[in-house]
Order: sequence, then structure tokens, then C-alpha cells
Amino acid sequence: MSTDVLARTEPAPTRGKPAVTSATHHVETVLWVRHWTDQYFSFAITRPASFRFRSGEFVMIGLPGEDGGKPVLRAYSIASPSYADTLEFFSIKVADGPLTSRLQKIEPGDQILMAKKPVGTLVLDALQPGRRLFLLGTGTGLAPWLSVARDPDVYDAFEQVVVAHCVREVRDLAYRDLFQEELPADEVFGELAVNQLTYLPTVTRQPFEREGRITDLITSGRLFQDAGLNQSVFDPESDRVMLCGSMHMIKDVAAILEAQGMAEGSNSEPGDFVLERAFVG
Ligand SMILES: Cc1cc2nc3c(=O)[nH]c(=O)nc-3n(C[C@H](O)[C@H](O)[C@H](O)COP(=O)(O)OP(=O)(O)OC[C@H]3O[C@@H](n4cnc5c(N)ncnc54)[C@H](O)[C@@H]3O)c2cc1C
Repeated sequence: MSTDVLARTEPAPTRGKPAVTSATHHVETVLWVRHWTDQYFSFAITRPASFRFRSGEFVMIGLPGEDGGKPVLRAYSIASPSYADTLEFFSIKVADGPLTSRLQKIEPGDQILMAKKPVGTLVLDALQPGRRLFLLGTGTGLAPWLSVARDPDVYDAFEQVVVAHCVREVRDLAYRDLFQEELPADEVFGELAVNQLTYLPTVTRQPFEREGRITDLITSGRLFQDAGLNQSVFDPESDRVMLCGSMHMIKDVAAILEAQGMAEGSNSEPGDFVLERAFVG
């Protein structure tokens, strides 16, 4: 499958900036940048040959400190699947954010620091076997699903994969074309996407074909109905869930899952659902 799905610009190797060096981190080159809105952007960097990760993991990435200060590093979900040649990220732009106020200005050819070791619980290893996998995310909480939902191993492990992405406005539905057009048409991945992948975008602040928070979709049963399922709650026997995004969504959905008899899992003790608290708000 091609991971080369977004429009991009070529790297400009000489931009008159001093080369970045680091004894503790990988120094990788930005390959392309795509700005979705004034709030969201994506970019890809080179992948070091020694860097291994499991689809769904996150890694610390960042930029050197300004004026010789300490590097500014933040946790980022890797949006590429584990087999990809390059590493893609899906990022917020926080106007006064220590990292993203600068990161949003990167261009092809720029250099990024990346930790040597990825980590995380949004991985198949942290879940018990099941039949359906629900990947529920808000905002940039879609990032790990871009990795997991593009990994063919996931479709061996689960009969159906449901990606629900909740944002405020329709324009915030980054990667909608990837799910609705590109993956189903992909030469290698198309059959899996058409037969086993369900994409459910939802919007909270504008009229749209599906409106409301993920918690509302669950409690109203719409999540299951739109996924073509004949059930109105999660089935602890066959459903597995991954959660990523705002603290509110995660707290509320985790409470629903626990009330429906599901247990949180970890790498050492696989369970029925896993979560990553990516940001407050
Ligand atoms: C495990 C994990 C995975 C993460 N994966 C991603 C990712 O794939 N993409 C990504 O953009 N961020 C991700 N984050 C958040 C990321 O680490 C940074 O917080 C973000 O890049 C902003 O950095 P900053 O230094 O500019 O601002 P910070 O000082 O880190 O944050 C400033 C403010 O912005 C809010 N904020 C931070 N990140 C987000 C976000 N993603 N969406 C909405 N509001 C936010 C915070 O709540 C805070 O109030 C992840 C965080 C964790 C813990």
C-alpha cells in the first residue's frame, strides 16, 4: 500500500540553517508538510533504519532549544503504520505552545529531533483477542488510528475496524479523503478497506451528516447502527476499543466501557480497551 497519500513539496536541502546535532536523539529530515487548517497540520520525516515501532505507538519529537537552550520535545503518536518507509505525524497548532508555535513553521529540508524509543498502549498487544475493533478519537487523537487502521495485521486480528473521528467543524475532518476515497481505491489495501473498515466522522459545532460527541453516539446507539451492527451497547465478548484525544472524551467513554463490563488493558496485562490521554481540553 502507498503511504504516499498526501500532496507534498520536495525537501529543500540547503535553507541556510545550521545543521542540528544530538548525542541523545535521532536527527531526521522533514520530507513534506501539509496544512489542513489554521489548527491542524501533518508532516513526514525520514525514518532511521534502526527505528522500530508497533502501529499505534508514540514517540517524543521536537526542535532544538532557541538560543542554545534545552530542546523542546513533546509526545506524538506516529501516524504511519509500522512498515512505512517514512514517519508521518498529525499535529495541532497551539499559537503560544512551546513546541507547536515553532513546529507549525517547519518546511521540507528542516531537521527534527526524535527520541530513540517509541512507547504506548494503543497497540494490538495490549488488547485481548476480539472480533470488532473500535478506534475512537477526537481532534489529533485520530493520529494513532492512521497508523493502526493502515496496518494489515489489524485486519487479520479483527473482522471489522471502526474509526470514529470527532471534531468541531467539518473542515477539521483531516484525512477524510484518505478514509473515504484513497484507502478503498488502494491497489493493495483496497479490499481490506472496503470489506472491513468503517469510517464514521462526526462534527459537534456545524450541521453534518453525523453530529454529536462520541459519547452521544455511543449512548444513543448511533455508533453501532452506523457501523452496521445489530447491537446498542458494546459487547465485552467481541468488542475491543482504543481511545485517544481529549481528557473529557476519554474519561467519559472509559466510564461507559467499565459500566458495560469492559476492563482497561496494558502491554503487560491485555484487556478490553486501551487509552492515551493526549491533551486537556
Ligand atoms: C501520548 C501522547 C500523544 C500525543 N500525540 C499527539 C499527536 O499525535 N499530535 C498532536 O498534535 N499532539 C499530540 N500530543 C500532545 C503533544 O504532546 C503536545 O502537547 C502538543 O504538540 C502541543 O505542544 P506545545 O508545546 O505547542 O504546547 P503544550 O504546552 O504541550 O500545550 C499547550 C496547550 O495546548 C493543548 N493541546 C496540546 N496538544 C493538543 C492537541 N493535540 N489537541 C488539542 N489541544 C492540545 C494543551 O491541552 C495545552 O492546554 C500527545 C500527547 C501525549 C501525552
